[in-house]
Amino acid sequence: ASRQGRLGVHQDAGETYDSKNLRTKLVLLGDSGVGKSCIVLRFVRGQFDPSSKVTVGASFLSQTIALQDSTTVKFEIWDTAGQERYASLAPLYYRGAAAAVVVYDITSPDSFQKAQFWVKELQKHGSPGIIMALVGNKADLHESREVASEDAQAYAETNGMFFIETSAKTADNVNQLFEEIAKRLPRGQPTQKP
Ligand code: GDP
Repeated sequence: ASRQGRLGVHQDAGETYDSKNLRTKLVLLGDSGVGKSCIVLRFVRGQFDPSSKVTVGASFLSQTIALQDSTTVKFEIWDTAGQERYASLAPLYYRGAAAAVVVYDITSPDSFQKAQFWVKELQKHGSPGIIMALVGNKADLHESREVASEDAQAYAETNGMFFIETSAKTADNVNQLFEEIAKRLPRGQPTQKP
């Protein structure tokens, strides 16, 4: 089941979380236009539908996945929905996030530069131990590629992130991105207090 809510009004009363059923706040960061909303909609709804994005204010969608060890992870995915142009997001956006996904567009060196800015922001404002992923999206546009995978991989390694290239359009690696994050979440305690 997926659900959409506005910043700050979401309540989850009555649900319980234990070491087998994790709940995780995940924040998306990256330049406008790199495909953040499309990645989320691909993951949550299984479709590529650029027209259905939320355009004003932060929003989130949730999606639960099951891992092979019978753990379930419920992601509460926060999308900046246009707020990224203000360069610095409210601390509320980062608060309690166990995972952050920094997205750039493989055809845009500018968006890769901007991703590095967001990584620094996360290092300043994110929770200690936050799991960070660097995502090169629009991998289907490889003929127009301007950011080498090797450069992004090297940057990710230096910053303790994992790196993956995705295409929200073809669905390539989108589920894998979230599975990789799920596998890295700390076990044995809820990742976020209910
Ligand atoms: P956001 O501003 O980061 O949320 O970006 P959007 O999700 O709104 O996507 C911006 C534009 O990029 C839209 O026109 C999408 O159609 C396009 N887009 C998003 N993901 C992909 C992708 O994987 N491949 C291609 N070719 N286009 C994409």
